[in-house]
Parts: sequence; structure tokens; C-alpha cells
Amino acid sequence: MPPMRITLFTSIVAVLLIAPQSLPAASAEYRAGVATTVITPTEPIWIGGYGHRKEPADGKIHDLHAKVLVLEGPGGYQVALLTLDTENVPRAFADGVAADLADHFGFKREQVVVSCSHTHCGPALASADAKIIYPMNAEQYAATERYTHSLRRQLLETTAQALADLTPAELSVGVGQCGFGVNRRNNKEVEAGKEGFVPVGPVDHDVPVLRVMSEGRMKAVLFGYACHCTTLDFQKWCGDWAGFAKFAIEQKHPGTTALFMTGCGADTNPLPRRKLELAEKYGRQLAESVEKVLAEPMQPVRGRLNARFRHVDLAFESLPSRDALEQKAEQDNPYQQRWAKYLLARLADGPLSPTYAYPVQAIRLGNHVVMVIMGGEVVVDYSLRLKKELGPGTIVFAYSNDVCAYMPSERVLKEGGYEGRDAMVYYGHPSAWAPGLEDKIVNTVHELVRELRKD
Ligand SMILES: [Zn+2]
Repeated sequence: MPPMRITLFTSIVAVLLIAPQSLPAASAEYRAGVATTVITPTEPIWIGGYGHRKEPADGKIHDLHAKVLVLEGPGGYQVALLTLDTENVPRAFADGVAADLADHFGFKREQVVVSCSHTHCGPALASADAKIIYPMNAEQYAATERYTHSLRRQLLETTAQALADLTPAELSVGVGQCGFGVNRRNNKEVEAGKEGFVPVGPVDHDVPVLRVMSEGRMKAVLFGYACHCTTLDFQKWCGDWAGFAKFAIEQKHPGTTALFMTGCGADTNPLPRRKLELAEKYGRQLAESVEKVLAEPMQPVRGRLNARFRHVDLAFESLPSRDALEQKAEQDNPYQQRWAKYLLARLADGPLSPTYAYPVQAIRLGNHVVMVIMGGEVVVDYSLRLKKELGPGTIVFAYSNDVCAYMPSERVLKEGGYEGRDAMVYYGHPSAWAPGLEDKIVNTVHELVRELRKD
């Protein structure tokens, strides 16, 4: 029996002896609160994801949401998980939200997770790189800024509601499987769906599920999947398969709030795709995987809640010279042009930084579960490696706190291509990452988890 159990057991006995009436339900060491807000833009603003769109959104399939789950562990330590139906979480936005939660509720940075589903039918948020990838005019960008600003205010209000909603809760964790994610570097989209198609390449088909029971009912369920939320590329607001999965779970369990977080799906696509019925089908499949986990015995969460947050300085391969940027700024490719102009403007303020501070977060959920939460669009190699090295009870999420770039593994960096190097332009970075980033990131995760397990 671990020491914490003895302490808990001893204190329960002590409370029983002193004041039996005030004893909470025996296993409710935790409290949980949840709140939801609709974030569907009311103005026709630009949709996030894909550089080829020429116009803002022109309608919706269903509403987009932000959902906040606050967990409170023994001793009152709290963590707020903010999950959004957006394509991106820029650093300035996430840090702004975390600062609001610090000012109003005293949260430290490590206690706040700001995460997106990466739906490519969700609003683009204002950021420097938004101006590189999307051909927005000044008026359209101003609308995006207005939306981003009001979303930040909404998240503060929704977190306040989740905090006001805290009730004793029993948490448990399980893992299911779902198969629609296909490695998009190793398979051709045109082949997918054809008879006899057998996808190849690494994928992570795990469906981590955190169930929150309170007052005899399922109050919330947080689940994840490692795949791009890119079945659809039309002009309507839609949560894509992640949105449909949440709706399906909530329909089956009235009164439950379903929250979604994305895993390391940067090199995984839902294939075949491009049809609304496929997004609905994948959503149903994922919801069924979650239901299967809920129907089986799950691992109860007992013990301490704690969190850590750290930046890792990751080096770029090289820094372009002013001359090189001036030449690129004259080129025909509009992305290269906007990228070069963006970097030239930054150069006017001083030399470019040779490194980027990449965020990694870890949450200890009791004695057996650790959630690793990574920034950026992280390729599947990271979750497969981290789960192997950290062992059972490890849940890995990405697309949180600062979706700053694609995060290739050493393998993908060497192979190159879109996730390996080409996408760095869209995120406004001076070059590809320098080799060595995988070990730096993984070592930092190990450091955080070691610290949390020692607590
Ligand atoms: Zn992406």
C-alpha cells in the first residue's frame, strides 16, 4: 500500500471518529466542474486551416463550442482544461487566457491547458502566422482579431462557471481503439477507400477516456484521438469528426458534457475524406469507441493531482540573411512572399532568435495516470515513444498551449516533406528545426513526469 493511501485511510478513520456526519463520499477525493459555451462566430470570419480558401465562412453545419473541465484534487489543487473547436491555439492567445485565469482565480501557468480540436472548419484566431497563410485583407483580419478578443473573454467566463459548478467527483480512466486515422505520409489519399486498400505507416489508434462521475451520473467525459480533424474543407463552421463524436456521446448521455483533445495526429488523416457523411461516420465510430471504454471496468483515479509546465529551447537549422529574405519577398509564391516580408519586419526590431521556446506540460492524475500535453502539431512517433517509455497510464495530447509549428520526430525531420520541414514557412519560422529536437522534447517530458511522481 503506498504511503498516500495510508495517510488517506488514517485521515478518513480520524474524520469518522470525530464527525461522521461531515464525511464526504469515501472515494470522492476529487471535485469536478464543467461548463460549455457556444463559440460559433457571429460575423463571417476566416476559417482556420488550408491555405487555399479564398473567402470567409458562409454558414454552419452545427455550433462550435468551448468546454472547460476543472478538476480539483486532494488538498484543493486545481487544473483547468479548456478545449476549443478551433483550428489553432496561438501562443499569445493561450498565454493571455492563462493570464486572465491567473488574475481572477490565482491559477499558475501549469494549472491551465488551452487546447484545440484542430478542426479545419473552425475559426482562424489572430496571430502573426495567420497573416502568412491566409490571404485576409485588413478588414477581414480586424474581424478575426475582434473574434479572438471576445473568445478570450468567453473562456474566462466559462472557466468561472466551471469553478462554480465544482461537485464531489469520482474519476476513472480507460483506453479504447478507433481505426479511421491513416498515416498521410505513407498512403495516397486517392487510394484510400478503394477495395483492397491496406494503409501502411505508424499511427496511434488509442482513444484515451477520462470519465467524471458525480452525484450518481456521468457529469463529463474527456476523450482523445490522434488524427487531423480534416475530413472537411468547405466554407461552413463544423467540428468535423471530433464535433460529431461529442454530439453523439452527449445525445446518448443527456446531461453529460463531452470534451475532446487531439493526440499526436500531425501525420495522420481521416481517409477517405472530403464528404460530410464521412465526418459524421468517423464521429460515430469514435463515439462508439468511447462507449465501449465506458461499458468496461475503468481504472479509478486515486491520489494526488499536480501539474508542471516547461519551455524547451529548440534550435532552428539556420537563419536566413536579409539579402535572402529580400529576394524571397520578390518571388511569385504568395506564401514565400508573405513569410519573407514577415521576417523582414521582425528583423527591423533586431536579430532573429536562433531558438524557439516550445511548451510541454504534464499533469499527474492520481497515482497511476499521467497526461502529457504538448504544443504544436506533433507527429505520431512522439506518442508511441512516450507511451512506451513512460508505461501504462500515459495519455498524450498535442495541439495545446501554442500550436507553433509541426513537431517532427528525428525520423520525419530526416525524411523532410510537409511535416518535416516545408510547413515551417506557414508558421513564420526562419527554417526547419535543427536535428536533436526529439530527444530534447522527450527528455523534458521525462523530467516533468519524474518531478510529478516524486511529489
Ligand atoms: Zn494541421
